Amino acid sequence: MRIEKCYFCSGPVYPGHGVMFVRNDCKTFRFCRSKCIKNFKKKRNPRKTRWTKAFRKSAGKELTVLFTFFLCTVQAMKKVEEIKQKRQARFIMNRLKKGKQLEKEEAINEVKKNIHLIRAPHAGKAKQMEEKMVQKLQEDVEMGDEDL
Ligand SMILES: [Zn+2]
Repeated sequence: MRIEKCYFCSGPVYPGHGVMFVRNDCKTFRFCRSKCIKNFKKKRNPRKTRWTKAFRKSAGKELTVLFTFFLCTVQAMKKVEEIKQKRQARFIMNRLKKGKQLEKEEAINEVKKNIHLIRAPHAGKAKQMEEKMVQKLQEDVEMGDEDL
């Protein structure tokens, strides 16, 4: 069983339906209904008759196979690009995270190594301040003694 296409409207011509016209050069034309064969006999161009598939295709009213294929490829490419970008972003983020972790670890190690450098000056200053204060107090006490 073969479903033919109407020459005029591009609709399906089921077996036992429509009309087949054979031109004297052996080219066959199939029509789905009397409307289509009448229009054909009036020598109308299906591409210029608004209700036919040919017109809709030529006027860009319908998605042609090529166009849908193109759209599919474009969408697929977009998706692939998106996924690529996401992956790259994730990769970069991971690298950054690793870098930050390494930096932190290094910083902690350095701090642990050189903790005496950090503690010493403060400790020394505190001690010095204490000593100075003690000295001042002693001096004040001595001055007070002189006053008395
Ligand atoms: Zn038709």
